[in-house]
Amino acid sequence: MILDGKILSKSIKENLKNIICASGKEVSLAVILVGQDPASCIYVKNKTNDCHEVGIKSLEYKLPDTTKQEELMDLIHKLNNDDSVHGILVQFPLPEGLDESAVVKAISPQKDVDGFSKINVGGVLMNDKDCFVSCTPAGALELIKSSGIEITGKNAVVIGRSNNVGKPMALLLLNEGATVTVCHSKTQNLKEITKQADILVSAVGKAHMITEDMVKNGAVVIDIGISRIDGKQVGDVDFENVSKVAYAITPNPGGTGPMTRAMLMYNTVKAAGLL
Ligand code: NAP
Repeated sequence: MILDGKILSKSIKENLKNIICASGKEVSLAVILVGQDPASCIYVKNKTNDCHEVGIKSLEYKLPDTTKQEELMDLIHKLNNDDSVHGILVQFPLPEGLDESAVVKAISPQKDVDGFSKINVGGVLMNDKDCFVSCTPAGALELIKSSGIEITGKNAVVIGRSNNVGKPMALLLLNEGATVTVCHSKTQNLKEITKQADILVSAVGKAHMITEDMVKNGAVVIDIGISRIDGKQVGDVDFENVSKVAYAITPNPGGTGPMTRAMLMYNTVKAAGLL
């Protein structure tokens, strides 16, 4: 089974559009881009397009890379206090010299639609349904659940332990009743562990590191990692060969990427009080 993020994200966005339409409310997302990192410019453009598709008002703030920390903080405080703004997203990475963790701290947790703040990360830990879940793990979980795959009681292995991807992914699976193992760069005998996984999630960023021999027959394989080979996006998983043994697998691109974008829209509509 192919876990197609393009199809599912489209239906999620369609549903959100209907909810916004029915509410008659103007929902808005402020996106701040500092500097002109090419990848960040593309991500921001995609987010703006998603907003248009869903019917969310997108407020774009494009700041020069000479922007000072205080200027960025002032803008965040202004947006925090503006009731017409429901979500605030600062595109990372920031240019050198700007403090990302201070930015995460400054964004009001009620408008933190990226789900990066301590309050929201803590909310995931406590299985609090009111918090904003980091978009990539939220999207990955949605892909698994919406395809009817049972998570409770399964052995789940997450590779990657970052605060925004690996750790929340592990917590979400734990909250669903999986038995979760988290692996990282210091893990010994990775293959022995991944071989035990009924659900294997890879969030590393090393092209095709997950090979067929590392995957249990009939496993569900979720590929979050992004790398480039000759300018072309590839995932952590050797899709061609792993798809022969997996029961379900995400394509990459076309799996967790579009789901991440859909979950940002979901969080923004939630921030506006419509979900
Ligand atoms: P990150 O902060 O760099 O974390 C990478 C993790 O991989 C770390 O925990 C690291 O372990 C672990 N790792 C590195 N080499 C390893 C190895 N050989 N074996 C096992 N584990 C290893 O990255 P991130 O922000 O979590 O993102 C992970 C990947 O997902 C990146 O490729 C990123 O581009 C991608 N991503 C995709 C989406 C999407 O929409 N699909 C969204 C966000 C991120 P240590 O902690 O020990 O260093």
